[in-house]
Amino acid sequence: MGEDNESCKIGGMINQSPILILGSIGLDTIETKYGKRSELLGGSATYATIAAGLFSPIHLIGIVGSDFPEPAYKLLLKYTANTEDLIIENGPTFRWGGRYHGDGDDRDTLFTELGVFAEFDPVLSEQNRKARWVFLANIHPALQIKVLEQCQGNPLVVTDTMNLWIKTTSRELNEIVRCTNVLLISESELREYTGLDEVRDGAEKILMMGPEKVVIKLGSKGAICIDQNEEIKTGVYPVSKVIDPTGAGDVFGGGFISGLSQGLPIIEAMKRGTALASFCIEDFGMSMLDNITKSDIDERIALLEK
Ligand code: AMP
Repeated sequence: MGEDNESCKIGGMINQSPILILGSIGLDTIETKYGKRSELLGGSATYATIAAGLFSPIHLIGIVGSDFPEPAYKLLLKYTANTEDLIIENGPTFRWGGRYHGDGDDRDTLFTELGVFAEFDPVLSEQNRKARWVFLANIHPALQIKVLEQCQGNPLVVTDTMNLWIKTTSRELNEIVRCTNVLLISESELREYTGLDEVRDGAEKILMMGPEKVVIKLGSKGAICIDQNEEIKTGVYPVSKVIDPTGAGDVFGGGFISGLSQGLPIIEAMKRGTALASFCIEDFGMSMLDNITKSDIDERIALLEK
């Protein structure tokens, strides 16, 4: 990370700052109690980009294969301001399959086919190296490190992860956590990563590693942001039918960083993320997210306030 510029401050007023987003872009096959859908546009970066792209210019870093469908590409472009570092490579696109149990709190991964991701070696454009806001959506931490090493603008970094990396690549995960300003992590991942049962204890252990803040995603209980001084909580918008929970965390993250980059207080950024996530889970894939307006989001934020 660069040292010349003063780091972006959470709460600093920088409207319409571009956000660099790294993560997976792929095709998902999803089974829930409401049905099965195949080859849906998915991926951690895709969900985050659509959420954040409703508010901010997104510079997307990722890779898709030559089989990536044209309509999926067009949908992605709708929410992306800069695609200099979005590569189309000969070979198959990343694919992931998941099956949810019951009301959607638990899921099994049925398959993960890396395809062109296996050889992904991101080299950032000059413009993207200067980014001031970076969202490292869930992806192999070695790729997160590779991208961050190229960022010269001393950016504010929000990082997401998953249990797979806690189990398999903890050394690289520790490295990226040390360079992160805000870590997003689920309650169960926090326990697994820190070995501590109490949320506050786990968060404190992470704060000691470097992040200024830890946002713990509590699923149907909302989210809590913990730093050295305070704890800020949000609930959830009550959704009557959770059709497909895939991507809710990524959407929360996209909404959250777009709020921070526009100078919103933490609580407002969390509410934006929460409202967006509530739309995400109301249908399969991007169906709901791609059909909402800012006033739909504001309506849910207002209800969250009540
Ligand atoms: P979430 O429900 O927030 O865990 O995000 C689900 C999205 O993450 C899906 O659209 C998948 O395509 C993507 N995904 C699943 N496994 C991985 C992985 N190992 N690396 C990167 N992205 C993944």
